[in-house]
Amino acid sequence: MVTGNILTPAGWRHGRIEIEAGRIAAIDASPVDPARNDAPYIVPGFIDLHVHGGGGADTMEGGAAAVTMARLHARFGTTSLLATTMTAPRHELRKVLVELGEVARERPAGSARMLGVHLEGPYISPSKLGAQPPEAVVAVLDEVLDYLNVAPIKVVTLAPEISGHPRIIAELASRGIRVQIGHTLGSYDEGVNALKHGATGFTHLFNAMSGLHHREPGMVGAALAHADYAELIPDLLHVHPGAIRAALRAIPNLYCVTDSTAAAGMPDGEYRLGSQGVVKCLGAVRLKDGTLAGSTLTMDKALRNLVSLGLPLADVSNRLSRYAADYLGITDRGRIEVGAWADLVMLDRALALQATYVEGEEIVVEYA
Ligand SMILES: [Zn+2]
Repeated sequence: MVTGNILTPAGWRHGRIEIEAGRIAAIDASPVDPARNDAPYIVPGFIDLHVHGGGGADTMEGGAAAVTMARLHARFGTTSLLATTMTAPRHELRKVLVELGEVARERPAGSARMLGVHLEGPYISPSKLGAQPPEAVVAVLDEVLDYLNVAPIKVVTLAPEISGHPRIIAELASRGIRVQIGHTLGSYDEGVNALKHGATGFTHLFNAMSGLHHREPGMVGAALAHADYAELIPDLLHVHPGAIRAALRAIPNLYCVTDSTAAAGMPDGEYRLGSQGVVKCLGAVRLKDGTLAGSTLTMDKALRNLVSLGLPLADVSNRLSRYAADYLGITDRGRIEVGAWADLVMLDRALALQATYVEGEEIVVEYA
């Protein structure tokens, strides 16, 4: 049983949640204005669709590392996630995908649920790698289908301006994969064309994509003008608050991801991101040349960052949970209602994490 101010799809309720067999069995609560009491907040567990690592472990190290990562992020309120791969040579990437596929079958105790895999690269622009290693390739359908066979890939990030990629987008979309535009120098028109072919999202909006100029609106312009969904890294290092506000006005279901690396939840020092060395210092993770290389963000911090910009907690919660679930077509996560998985986060009145439940299992949290 969990008691407090509960954020339900119908608004705030004060009362308790009964959990049975990992799911919400009953909500015994009545409407409330949470400003009128000092009970904790209970919001849906966070869903992070772009996470490379955490707790010193990197997805590209394989299955055991992915479990370490899923445990680390559960301690910060993430109840489900997509393990996100980096660009790598084919044999290496395939080996990792096989291992991730195995890990995704069962949820180890104390960890977030791995909903599947986000394939970020290798089908990206060699001229917009961000922190991806220089091993981008042009997508070939047979190879992509082979990857889909060995791992539960839910999201693929690719650059749409590369010859042949619009057709790949259509093939993937027809198989229910969410195709995201990212690591791209494509033009506005190429972005619009990708959306017409079935792309549905944008990967870390603003970062590693052509920016908006009023006579050349670029990929950011295509997103702001047309997207229903896009992911954003709200660590306040990757994107200026003003750009976040612009995106919030333009993209109704803008949702948050961490893009976090092995350095998340760890002290300053040197870590791996795929095949590259990165350095964590002052909250940022960078390649040796200074390029931002993912983040150290955790979802509880993402929540506090967005609230610090003046967004209501209920709106922020949607951007950390509900919209990501909706985007993947998942109807029993990202919302607190009877029948849904008991994926819950309890926050005190200063929005510090008090408790996390993954499918009803209470996780020992980090007190921030
Ligand atoms: Zn990434």
